[in-house]
Amino acid sequence: MTGETSHSDVATFATLRERRYRKDMKISRWFGALLFTSASCLFAADELALRLQPALEAITPDGLLAHIKVLASDEYEGRAPGTRGEELSVKYISDQFKQVGLKPGNPDGTYTQEVPLAGIKSDPRMSFIIGDKTTELKYPDDFVASSAHLQPEIKIDKSDVVFVGYGVVAPEYGWDDYKDVDVRGKTILILIGDPPVPDPKDPSKLDDKMFKGKAMTYYGRWTYKYEIAAQKGAAAAIIIHETEPAAYPWQVVRSSWARENFELDNPNKNMDAVSARSWITLDVAKKLFADCRQDFDALKKSAVTKDFRPVALSAKANTEIKQQIRAFKSHNVIGKLEGDDPKFHDEYVIYTAHWDHLGRHPELQGDQIFNGAIDNASGVASVIEFAAAFTKLNPPPKRSVLFMATTAEEAGLLGAKFYAAHPLYPLEKTPADINIDGVNPWGKTHDLEDLTNRNSTLDDLLGEAAARQERVMKPNTEPEKGGFYRVDSFEFAKAGVPVLHLARGIDIIGKPPDYGKQKRDEFVAKHYHQPSDEVDPSWDLSGAVQDVQLLFEVGYQVANGDKFPEWKAGSEFRAKREEMLKK
Ligand SMILES: [Zn+2]
Repeated sequence: MTGETSHSDVATFATLRERRYRKDMKISRWFGALLFTSASCLFAADELALRLQPALEAITPDGLLAHIKVLASDEYEGRAPGTRGEELSVKYISDQFKQVGLKPGNPDGTYTQEVPLAGIKSDPRMSFIIGDKTTELKYPDDFVASSAHLQPEIKIDKSDVVFVGYGVVAPEYGWDDYKDVDVRGKTILILIGDPPVPDPKDPSKLDDKMFKGKAMTYYGRWTYKYEIAAQKGAAAAIIIHETEPAAYPWQVVRSSWARENFELDNPNKNMDAVSARSWITLDVAKKLFADCRQDFDALKKSAVTKDFRPVALSAKANTEIKQQIRAFKSHNVIGKLEGDDPKFHDEYVIYTAHWDHLGRHPELQGDQIFNGAIDNASGVASVIEFAAAFTKLNPPPKRSVLFMATTAEEAGLLGAKFYAAHPLYPLEKTPADINIDGVNPWGKTHDLEDLTNRNSTLDDLLGEAAARQERVMKPNTEPEKGGFYRVDSFEFAKAGVPVLHLARGIDIIGKPPDYGKQKRDEFVAKHYHQPSDEVDPSWDLSGAVQDVQLLFEVGYQVANGDKFPEWKAGSEFRAKREEMLKK
């Protein structure tokens, strides 16, 4: 690979093997003193390296690229659930699992778990009435709207409009934006993100004691806003888009919502959800407030205090959504490697990556296919490579390992959500979920980012494995983007299972210091959830291999460890896990 230096080679296993040889030549003390604190430590690292070597060598840039090229090809049509793209993807992934020697992951003898989904195409209209003036919003430039209700028409006529600030009810922070205001049947306007409460000692910073300071909590996520709106009985919930707290520009909202969306096809037809879920642009919101003689900026400011009370606007809102609904079965694809130890083999470490992406948008000029090469053909390729690596272990791991490509992640983590609600093997026998969503295609890195925020002891294992690769594990550099809540592993965490999700490193070996960040920012701005997320000949997948090897090693440690990983004290998921393990 280009741009590599001898520095990166220090950690290769060939070098470790050579170290072992030198140790046998009785110069280990010298090496031990230089590289490790003790000779026994060297020995342990060495042993592990030798044991894992055949498995690690099975993970290659070419292997990853070959899978990505297939899954992200135009033939796969952007892999939307329920399309030909699904058929092809499910077949390809099951075939690969079979080929590397995995057994069917479903106890029914198949490589799939059926996930009942409903595809919903929405044709929404929205208008605000102020006095005798009605303003129609333009779709999808001004707004997007859809409903989780599996019914053909949703109509909300002349409903009262109430601004509910951040729309957060968080007893642990003594915070309740709704207070005693009845929003039943009303249209509520909500700010995106956590309330950014300033630190009383230094107002230029956020208060670490409120909503985890700069980091995003679940209260900041749009999914939460709609969930609490439903609990409060609101008819329509409109989120006001702002790029920074949302963590992405309007373009992403627009292309994510103005297409077929998906819900789990639950027996209650999701009638417990809010009737209309919508986003509007900041400009539209500001104009609406101004037309109602309200100062948006002042109200937004007032929403950052516990004393905030909902504010009724002098407007009425109409929302009408016509929906085309098609119920169908989608699939999680699951392969299994059986553990070797009769005491532990009914325990399952899980690797996940979503296979779905945004499909094809025939209304677009030019390229219509959202190939999703990075997001997440690359993650699925990694899961296939994990599987190939695990099958090379001799002896096999003590615990069993499941390799799962989930469906409908882009639609709200639905495949993972369904598995967590209907696990094929009990969650209390599931020590961990290790998730991968988008690899680093820009070369090996000195660093890596811990997106799971040292929430569990899995992050410690990750740190140790990183040290063996002579890499530095950095804390999440963008906790405000809430990445933890935006990937499949969150559904496992919510259900209590400790999770690991790694973010790309950005300190690329052999490149200028800002190169990695530049590449990452460019990807988010130009290619994330766009048709241009395609295979790029300039990729250097050596960094992806480095990360896949790292997560392989963590999974290996969990599959052979003396005990299960645990949530750390203060983690919001710990109580759930403890309760589950008591059974
Ligand atoms: Zn993704």
